[in-house]
Amino acid sequence: MARSIANGDYGVLNAIESASRPGEWYAVVADRRTAALSCDCPRWIFNAAGSRTCKHTDFTLGLLTAHAGPDRASAGVQAGRTPAPTGEGGDEHTFITATRRQWPGLLGTWEIEQTAATIDGAPYVVVRLKLRTGNGETLTGTVSFAARHQHTPAGMESWVAAWCGYAIAAELAYRAGLRLGALPPRRATPVRATGARASRRPAPLGFGDILRVGDVRDLGDQLLPEQRAENTLRLFLGEELYLQLKHQGYLDVSSVLYPEEERVYRLRRHAHKQREHRVRVFERGAYARDFCIVRAQNVPEADWYLTVFLGLLSDERATIGVVHAHNVFPRCSDDPMPETTPTIWQPRAENLPAAS
Ligand SMILES: [Zn+2]
Repeated sequence: MARSIANGDYGVLNAIESASRPGEWYAVVADRRTAALSCDCPRWIFNAAGSRTCKHTDFTLGLLTAHAGPDRASAGVQAGRTPAPTGEGGDEHTFITATRRQWPGLLGTWEIEQTAATIDGAPYVVVRLKLRTGNGETLTGTVSFAARHQHTPAGMESWVAAWCGYAIAAELAYRAGLRLGALPPRRATPVRATGARASRRPAPLGFGDILRVGDVRDLGDQLLPEQRAENTLRLFLGEELYLQLKHQGYLDVSSVLYPEEERVYRLRRHAHKQREHRVRVFERGAYARDFCIVRAQNVPEADWYLTVFLGLLSDERATIGVVHAHNVFPRCSDDPMPETTPTIWQPRAENLPAAS
């Protein structure tokens, strides 16, 4: 079977906006094993016989070279480099704030770099977010805006949060051994469940269905925070993993802090999503104890779940730091359901070639 994004072999390197159609995106992805780039633009897809490149893969390759070498000005991104505020001293860049708001489980130190560039003669603004996780890993997400569409910073914010945050979160999940589904559809507008046609066959979720805009409750899409949170979890995991979570009731995350114990956290989800479950801690494959990681008030359960999940992947120490002696419980403390499936601890996978 041909490898595809659907079986987790690819990582998102760069989301590039169409030069002609605002809000339409091409995703340049890297094969994790061969480091070869591919794109989902028509030119790349229909050029199967020739050499497989397009202006998006060429441009992204240039970015990678620029960021990998000691002389970072050597590739085509040197023009108009404008370092953006990094968030030190309390003046966090709004793109970072938006990304942290969209993915509160991504813990660590954020940096942002904004550069001007051209793709095939068209001017672009390239935004690159870098996260140094509390676990000591470094991940990046890149999104390239076509300058001719004249986005406002506020208009760019959501796309930076969606694309960069997704790319970083997906890479973390991959390194932890989880295989996410296909890339989310690149739609800006939410699916509107109106009319009989919409209800018969719901369209797949797109980024427009999950984006948060501040603390606005009603974004005009009739989605309550609970639905938006559920959509976010579902879009992030992809249908296959989302269904797996639904049917088996949990996802496992291997510890990076306790490799000798082969510790694994089993993050269970309540069948009716009414309340959070305690995290079941396994050591050397055996169920050992429960950790109670309490949900903050007014946070939808799906938000809590994804935040704990990404928190363990990005900063395990901070995430279990809320667990004190009185939050550690014996096995089956909040649910008599025994554990019959042992855990298998696994180390984090190697980095994407581009992620340094
Ligand atoms: Zn392309």
